[in-house]
Amino acid sequence: MKFYSTTTASHQVSLSEAVLKGLAPDNGLYFPVHIPRMPDTFFSQCRDMSFVDIGTEVIAALLSDELPVSAIRDIVSYTLSFDTPLVEISEDQYALELFHGPTLAFKDVGARFCSQLMRYLYGSEGSRVRVLVATSGDTGSAVANGFYKVPGIEVVILYPKGKVSELQEKQFATLGENIIAIEVDGTFDDCQKMVKEAFLDEDLSAQMVLTSANSINVARWIPQCLYYFYSWSRIPRDTDDIVYTVPSGNFGNLAAGVLAWRMGLPVTQFIAATNVNNVVPEYLSGEAFTPRPSLQTISNSMDVGNPSNFPRLLALYDNDDTALRAHIKGYYYSDDETAETMREVFDKTSYILDPHAAVACRALSEYQKVRKVKGIFLETAHPAKFKSTVDAILGVDIPLPERLRNFLPLELRKSNLPNSFTRFRDFLFQLDASRAG
Ligand SMILES: *Cc1c(COP(=O)(O)O)cnc(C)c1O
Repeated sequence: MKFYSTTTASHQVSLSEAVLKGLAPDNGLYFPVHIPRMPDTFFSQCRDMSFVDIGTEVIAALLSDELPVSAIRDIVSYTLSFDTPLVEISEDQYALELFHGPTLAFKDVGARFCSQLMRYLYGSEGSRVRVLVATSGDTGSAVANGFYKVPGIEVVILYPKGKVSELQEKQFATLGENIIAIEVDGTFDDCQKMVKEAFLDEDLSAQMVLTSANSINVARWIPQCLYYFYSWSRIPRDTDDIVYTVPSGNFGNLAAGVLAWRMGLPVTQFIAATNVNNVVPEYLSGEAFTPRPSLQTISNSMDVGNPSNFPRLLALYDNDDTALRAHIKGYYYSDDETAETMREVFDKTSYILDPHAAVACRALSEYQKVRKVKGIFLETAHPAKFKSTVDAILGVDIPLPERLRNFLPLELRKSNLPNSFTRFRDFLFQLDASRAG
């Protein structure tokens, strides 16, 4: 499978190069040159197949010209080592719980797949591949845990000192081994700038292989299509008329659902749900796509003012706005509306929605008032990850799941750097020398 850049269609690269680069040099997103359709037999048989079998077949359809099926099966088995159950919360409404992975958020799926694919592609003996990540919290924990103890690859995480929550810091700065955490005396933007400068530094790239594992990397984007196939295969139904509702920020998750549809999954309607950062719902309603600075909300992982996957979404509809706007409906809600939905659902069903899924659940309910249809909404994080918000809204005291609690007693293993690229550069050279020596 070759990938082209959404900015320059003639720029085509192999899977290996697309994954190593992350973003195309012209700032475009990599996109598959050809999207295969799954055969009819796959759709008639998938109800009896395991998640790993479904995942292996789908990834093989996309990537088997560059990866042997045995490697694909290994990568997929590692990725999907936790369940993604479909829970019926009320009539015709199902929550697809994507929070049963190591850091209790759906980003675990992409991060785990990415780590194993990089290991396969670049992690040969003696290789020194370094993944650089700047994080304000959640990406760091998903990437750190996805790559933990993966041979041949080191992860270097930069984060702003004092600006991530204690629990988030514990999830990525206590691991040790191949995970190196650096707190920077600066902001998240400073961290991101240091990472960008490192990629551009010729002396560094002459000495070591540097790569990113950010959310636009195809290795993180593509595997997210798997839980759409899986949930479709498991939903009890008498009709194929099913809609998916996706709580969205950068729109990678929704774009992966549309990829599944392009591969033949019969989804009659997608629903894009956002908080007041509503650039895409506004576009879907017929206006122009107008990025702007993000606003802070209680569903903060969706506080995105310039959704990075938008070009990919367009490419999935061959840049046909009319087709895109017909197939994806947009809804957006304020924090008050989000909290109201959390309370309503909790009072009626005792189900605890996290603030992100609450946005999606409300959009689904609103859509279902117009058209009676079965719907799945994606529950993207465990509500305990947003404990103080959820407790305050619902008047509860949700326990931290064991997996999160286990991080709390661990000791931090972090380095500290000033906000200085030169110092970061020295740090990377020293790291290299100590590994070589
Ligand atoms: C990242 C994230 C989202 C948004 O996903 P995108 O793929 O960026 O649209 C939604 N919910 C949670 C909990 C997240 O962490």
